[in-house]
Amino acid sequence: MICYNCKGNGYVKVRFESEQAIDQCKVCHSQGELNEDTYYHQTWTEGENGAVAYYYGPPLDPECFKNYTISNE
Ligand SMILES: [Zn+2]
Repeated sequence: MICYNCKGNGYVKVRFESEQAIDQCKVCHSQGELNEDTYYHQTWTEGENGAVAYYYGPPLDPECFKNYTISNE
């Protein structure tokens, strides 16, 4: 499946003060795709108070979650 962190590009644009830089995507190791057998740290928010939910496991469908993030650290 497409890496949500870099949207399949293999890199992410990072802003450091006024400079913009390109950084390799650490989630998919610049592959642009996630291995569905690999476990990743994922978070999203739930409910009216936006409580943060944590999940460690195979990549979930980002469409189903609010403020979804994924990392492998
Ligand atoms: Zn990526």
